[in-house]
Amino acid sequence: MVNKVPFDAFWQCPSCGADFKQEVTQKDGSVWTGSRVIGVEIRGLYDGVAYWICPDCKVVWHRWADSPGNARLRYNIEELWRDQGLTPWRGNL
Ligand SMILES: [Zn+2]
Repeated sequence: MVNKVPFDAFWQCPSCGADFKQEVTQKDGSVWTGSRVIGVEIRGLYDGVAYWICPDCKVVWHRWADSPGNARLRYNIEELWRDQGLTPWRGNL
């Protein structure tokens, strides 16, 4: 059972295609690889990242896959997006 959206959406924006991969060289010379994607946590709704936002185009998308078990959570998140005037990505993840 897949509960989360594909990991690709963590490295690349599904809307504008921006590459989120970022490499930072540490003081000891090792390279840390991370993502520029912004994970948004909503206190009282879910303990952890509830949805993602692209730092470049500001489009938001779900962390949680569209399944019956996630329906209520996704509905609440989408209501919040509407209240905040955010632009959800309309594709399928
Ligand atoms: Zn984007």
